[in-house]
Amino acid sequence: AVQNNPRITEQLEAWVKENKGHAVLGTTAQYIPALGKVDPGKLGICMIDEDGHYYCAGDTDTEFTLQSISKALTFVALSCHYGLDFVLERVDVEPTGEAFNSIVPFEIHRPNKPFNPFINAGAITISSLLPGQNAQKKFEFLKGFLEELLGHPIEIDKEVYDSEWATSHRNRALAYYLKEAKFLELEVEEALDIYISQCSIKVSVKDLALLGLILAYDGYNPITKVKHFSEEIAQVTKVLMVTCGMYNSSGNFAAHVGIPAKSGVSGGIMAAVPPKLHSQTYEFRAGAGIGVYGPAIDVQGNSAAGTMMLRQISKEWDLSIF
Ligand code: GLU
Repeated sequence: AVQNNPRITEQLEAWVKENKGHAVLGTTAQYIPALGKVDPGKLGICMIDEDGHYYCAGDTDTEFTLQSISKALTFVALSCHYGLDFVLERVDVEPTGEAFNSIVPFEIHRPNKPFNPFINAGAITISSLLPGQNAQKKFEFLKGFLEELLGHPIEIDKEVYDSEWATSHRNRALAYYLKEAKFLELEVEEALDIYISQCSIKVSVKDLALLGLILAYDGYNPITKVKHFSEEIAQVTKVLMVTCGMYNSSGNFAAHVGIPAKSGVSGGIMAAVPPKLHSQTYEFRAGAGIGVYGPAIDVQGNSAAGTMMLRQISKEWDLSIF
């Protein structure tokens, strides 16, 4: 294993400082009261390489909730258990151009299945299909799957869960729609319970970096040498991350950052930097995972400062896959 390089950490610290101010371009997610009240000025980043070295800078101690990042993980978990074909029969992989919580595309254009697993219609459908007899067992399955990937126990942020449960009128409406269309395996309240629980899972930027690394390595953890899921599942997940992972700025993010990533309204971003052996950038030629936290989100729903910082990092270190 190579030595942990202090120069990388110093560089990341400089970029955190430079980009922190971009938080003013966003606000914390006001529609979920518990998210709305957190400190919008925070910014933290963690990168992990294949040798297991973490390079962290900024506010890396704050825990936050997965929110929409969980959608990528339930997609992987379900595909792992039932196979990719089973999942793709029930949820498509097309971007929509509509808001993540929109009812419109689901109703008008594609009545046979939700457009993709990253819009709420697709995500709630996926959650309801997880293996298990009831909501609790299904969530336990997901939790176990994530704990295996992360190598440590995880918990729900009860305050965020309660806050979202009490204000999820739109998701509830969407779930009734899905129920009527016979997409849900459970009752509306049960499907919502799993979905809101997965959104409320507490993580750190280190956790997101590790998950990103496993995706970058196509389901393989190069540190523990454990293969968690197939290349095929990882590939489709990364396609979804590129095409729909950053809400309706996925195109811009692909153009200016070019790294498969999934964000959440908590201000987290999980990014998977695949190996790029021909690149001049020595440290991350072999691939990396990145976790970012910056709770002030822009109008599209992505961490304002986090996105700007990733833009700079990708440019400087030549991380774009395109
Ligand atoms: N729990 C949030 C919702 O469904 C997740 C949204 C997000 O992170 O995009 O509204």
